[in-house]
Amino acid sequence: MKRIAALFLALGMVLAAGCAKKDQDEPEQREVFAMDTAMVLTIYGEDAFRAANAAEEEIYRLDSLLSRTNEASKVSLLNNAEGKMVPVGVALCDLIQTAATYTELTDGAFDITIAPVVSAWGFTTDHYQVPEQEELEELLTHVGMEHVQLSGKSSASAGYENASLDPGTQIDMGGIAKGYASDRLSVIFQEHQIPQALISLGGNVLAWGSKPDGSAWRVGIQDPNAPSDPNAYVGILQLTDAFAVTSGSYERFFEQDGVTYHHIIDPSTGYPAQNGLVSVTVVADAAQGNGTMCDALSTALFVMGREKALDFWRSGACDFEMILVDEDGLVTVTAGLEDCFQAAEGGGYTYEVVS
Ligand code: ADP
Ligand code: MG
Repeated sequence: MKRIAALFLALGMVLAAGCAKKDQDEPEQREVFAMDTAMVLTIYGEDAFRAANAAEEEIYRLDSLLSRTNEASKVSLLNNAEGKMVPVGVALCDLIQTAATYTELTDGAFDITIAPVVSAWGFTTDHYQVPEQEELEELLTHVGMEHVQLSGKSSASAGYENASLDPGTQIDMGGIAKGYASDRLSVIFQEHQIPQALISLGGNVLAWGSKPDGSAWRVGIQDPNAPSDPNAYVGILQLTDAFAVTSGSYERFFEQDGVTYHHIIDPSTGYPAQNGLVSVTVVADAAQGNGTMCDALSTALFVMGREKALDFWRSGACDFEMILVDEDGLVTVTAGLEDCFQAAEGGGYTYEVVS
């Protein structure tokens, strides 16, 4: 009897060891649809299951905080407040302040108050239309971070808790929300001591650690000429502990009278940015805050166009590397990525490394 019990005990231990090992080798994989995007999370490590749960929960929480189409979100409450001060909480106030920093750094190319213009083009409702010039001019008078006020610090060192917008002004966090979410996920990975993970929130990638075999994660840069082919790349980035965020005109657009209009708006004209770029990828190390930075910059550099984007990169105002894809097939790669970027063969692209 004793011997049988001992056998079961031993068997139980072998099984337990087997399970534990399997848990470590097999990633926890989740597909999440939020922020209007299909997201994929692949998480390794002993605590991967709980980390994945926390990550999913955080994504949904942020979606319902930042969404402009969800009437109950804090952003919607603020957008519908008609000039009144709204208690939106420290997290949203902080993110608005961060957005304002990037507006200043990019000379207005990134601006969350572009919201009413984005709506006029129909990008929030999918009822696309080309707005009248007069309407755009009127809407542009409400664009600018000077129309946003923050207040209500509980102490000198605390963050703001309340926000208000001038009448006619609205905010749209679509150009920064996924990057911010990827920053939040990196905090969760730290808390759960996750050794490796790869997450893709639409065009926002976080390569956390390396692959379990120690090699770098391989992140494809979508071929803008074949946006619906998930295996068509202009090249592959080999990344370890990095954020990589792509903004492309192919992601959301409509056609009218033979002209294509996409969803990244130049705040100086109210029109979709038209400067020859079709995609911008911004890469930075996985330091806290860099997910948000990469997202804001990918949108801003897309608005700036190739020459201004290169000037901005060379200025050293922010620490990042980038890949620019032009409509004529030129792929510009900044020097810091030379060793980890692998050009794709046969896509008809030409490649240039700049320093
Ligand atoms: P995606 O959301 O497709 O990954 P982006 O990060 O470039 O791409 O964000 C584009 C979104 O940001 C638009 O759908 C719109 O909501 C908003 N947006 C458009 N133009 C600007 C701009 N100049 N500054 C800030 N946000 C913008
Ligand atoms: Mg962006």
